[in-house]
Amino acid sequence: MHALVIGAGIIGMTTAYYLRREGHDVTVVEAGEGVGLETSKANGAQLSYNFVAPLADPAVLPKLPLWLTDKDAPLHFQLRADPAQWRWGLSFLRLCRSGAARQGTIDLLELGLHSRAKLHELMQREAIDCDFASTGKLLVYGDAAGLASAQRQMEFQKTLGSDYLVLDRQGCIDKESSLASQAEKIVGGIFMPDEDSADCFKLCRQLHRRLAGDVRFLFGTRVSRLRRRGRRIVVAETSAGPLEADAYVIANGLGAQQLARQAGFNPHIHALKGYSLTYDLTEVSVAPMCSVSDIATKVVYARLGNRLRVAGMVDVGDNAAEIRSRRVDLLRRQAEALFPQLAPAGEPQVWAGLRPARPSSTPVIGATPCDNLWINAGHGSLGFTLAAGSAALLSDRMAGRPPSIPRHKFIVH
Ligand SMILES: Cc1cc2nc3c(=O)[nH]c(=O)nc-3n(C[C@H](O)[C@H](O)[C@H](O)COP(=O)(O)OP(=O)(O)OC[C@H]3O[C@@H](n4cnc5c(N)ncnc54)[C@H](O)[C@@H]3O)c2cc1C
Repeated sequence: MHALVIGAGIIGMTTAYYLRREGHDVTVVEAGEGVGLETSKANGAQLSYNFVAPLADPAVLPKLPLWLTDKDAPLHFQLRADPAQWRWGLSFLRLCRSGAARQGTIDLLELGLHSRAKLHELMQREAIDCDFASTGKLLVYGDAAGLASAQRQMEFQKTLGSDYLVLDRQGCIDKESSLASQAEKIVGGIFMPDEDSADCFKLCRQLHRRLAGDVRFLFGTRVSRLRRRGRRIVVAETSAGPLEADAYVIANGLGAQQLARQAGFNPHIHALKGYSLTYDLTEVSVAPMCSVSDIATKVVYARLGNRLRVAGMVDVGDNAAEIRSRRVDLLRRQAEALFPQLAPAGEPQVWAGLRPARPSSTPVIGATPCDNLWINAGHGSLGFTLAAGSAALLSDRMAGRPPSIPRHKFIVH
């Protein structure tokens, strides 16, 4: 079978990898001039297989007024005269129920744990070098109520296979000594020993290097339309002319929304903008070794060799890739307040990206209303974490095998 994979972010690259391993002829079509240049470029670098609870949760409802009005809130909602944004927002609000949040956690955790197993297998098989580290993840809390609620969530997740430790303030410092100077801001934390971190862009590039001999890559080529005849896609119209294949896979992140709509279904993917900073560390830098999530600011920290990646902000309604200095300055102040002895070599690299998110925080993986059209998209804040498991799941479904997550819900059709 000849499969045409649209998009060469982390989702398209892992999809191409698993389809090639099945023995298919694979072509990857990418609008940009290389792999991983959009949202997969400089994300938070967290492989948080266990920290997956959906954003839509009853606890967000009392915070909404703040999110709508405070431009310095970690999550900022800017209302626009955009029907798609309103539909997304209403659907998000409808999902802010404990039953939906619980089911979302179950589904995402299953996919997360499957992704962990698949990514470890892939890393070993291909001897990938992408600053991968299995140092665990520490969630730090500045208020006792937040910690108690997280503990309840983890007790529930333990029944589904998550491992964790509850730590007091000293336990957090023992785990991550770079937090020592700010100890008085921390009431306690949760440590998840099974979490990893890595550079998503480097993984995309390494996958490209390994696939380049076997898979055809068409860069600088945008798919503008999937032409349909009856229940089949007959051609992908692109900026470089028509491309025909036996199967087509929509794996182009945010761009999946437009192609899916043309093909007759709506995955409800919308942009959630975020920012990252990458600091080059020096010999005197005091920076975390394990992944840290500061729950008060919703900022994440990951060590990538001699660099520190800092990421945060969820801006709904700002769909431009443009960097807003107010948000970046805030992120920088937050990072440098938590780690005052960072002593980096120069200014951090600043980046903004658009998370391709669905209201439920769950991706769509599988068949579509067209017989030879498949989708793997809408991974929101967890695309790097869930990439390997999602691609393996899609290849199960395309092969007609029972999926490795039997009850999985990530389907549109
Ligand atoms: C600030 C921030 C921090 C994040 N932190 C984390 C984290 O710590 N851990 C985690 O798991 N996830 C994280 N994420 C989310 C993660 O980065 C995304 O979920 C993931 O990168 C999405 O990958 P993708 O392949 O779907 O999309 P992309 O990486 O955007 O790739 C899509 C590709 O498709 C191409 N394309 C689009 N339209 C077309 C078309 N019509 N024709 C051809 N090509 C097309 C684009 O050029 C692009 O290269 C973060 C995101 C942000 C913004």
